[in-house]
Amino acid sequence: MIPFLDSSRESAEVAEALTAAFARVRDGGTYVLGPEVEAFEREFAAYCERSHCIAVGSGLSALVLSLRASGVQSGDEVLVPAYTAVATWMAVSLLGATPIGVDVDPRTFNMDPSRIPSAVTPRTRAVVPVDLFGQPADMTPIAAIASSYGLEVVEDAAQAVGSRRQGTSVGSAAHAATFSFYPTKNLAALGDGGAVVTDDPEFADTVRLLRSYGWRKRGISEIVGGNSRLDELQAALLRVKLTRLDAWTERRRAIASRYLEALAPLSELTLPWFPSWAEPVWHLFVVEHRDRELLAARLGEMGIGTLVHYDPLPHLTPAYRAGGWRVGTFPVAERLAARALSLPLSPQLIDTEVEQVVAALVRATGGPA
Ligand SMILES: *Cc1c(COP(=O)(O)O)cnc(C)c1O
Repeated sequence: MIPFLDSSRESAEVAEALTAAFARVRDGGTYVLGPEVEAFEREFAAYCERSHCIAVGSGLSALVLSLRASGVQSGDEVLVPAYTAVATWMAVSLLGATPIGVDVDPRTFNMDPSRIPSAVTPRTRAVVPVDLFGQPADMTPIAAIASSYGLEVVEDAAQAVGSRRQGTSVGSAAHAATFSFYPTKNLAALGDGGAVVTDDPEFADTVRLLRSYGWRKRGISEIVGGNSRLDELQAALLRVKLTRLDAWTERRRAIASRYLEALAPLSELTLPWFPSWAEPVWHLFVVEHRDRELLAARLGEMGIGTLVHYDPLPHLTPAYRAGGWRVGTFPVAERLAARALSLPLSPQLIDTEVEQVVAALVRATGGPA
């Protein structure tokens, strides 16, 4: 039995260090926004090669606060990929702005830059490219187009911590990048968490105020802000995991290489593709198959856990259909969503398990052509 993901295996690998981190926070007596959060912010900013990190309560909050700090307001439009987690769309909606989907590149699942100009209107304020499945979005053209229309760029890097494009860390081509430390992500808290990174000190200052009641000094609200703070405990646990992240990413890459090599002969599958400038971190390994449900069922019978990311797509969830979005609006994304299946890929999978997944796929698809 190979579950899609077993988060307890990762925690077990660093169990003693996590326990020590817990004891340090317990005995320190500061439980929200204290020295562990400050240390994590320094370490995570350095990891992302940015000057500022603001740790917040979730990846969704990181997006909401970044969009607010970018000036997005009620009535604005914000461009988002059609293929993403619903959080990307909801961050826009929660500000009273309207998410406007942009269809994706069928090879990468990421926002297709050539489709941005026709989605821009006088109300468009910002664009939120997503580094889907851990593969960096095509930021060079996106940043150029955004600048020609005067759009803010916030990169949703929730799935792509540690990923690089043309040798630079994700987030460098955007005003700000956002991350999630939800337990399924590559850098996983034992609960919720998120972060914003930026090189702009004023933007960082605004996000910092927004995450805690607009306070610079306790009790003095300079602006109206919410409560989206990271606990000391999650920060301390994340500091432990951050020391292992590069090793875990290497393991993800080794498993992805093995899948790419071993599954290539299976003509029923379409395998992930990435451009030569991209260094993906393989948050998810997503294959395409014409009868995805059947493939998932066959793998399930052989004890291989799989998941679907994402069907329905955000615009076809009841929440957005109620706002008028319809089937057929994003033909590329919709076709991918009907065919996509995520295979188990986590750093703690051992080689024999990886081979079991491969063998199961060979059997489930009838083998090489
Ligand atoms: C996980 C995720 C988010 C949201 O993060 P939470 O921490 O769950 O709020 C946003 N965008 C993408 C692409 C994600 O995968």
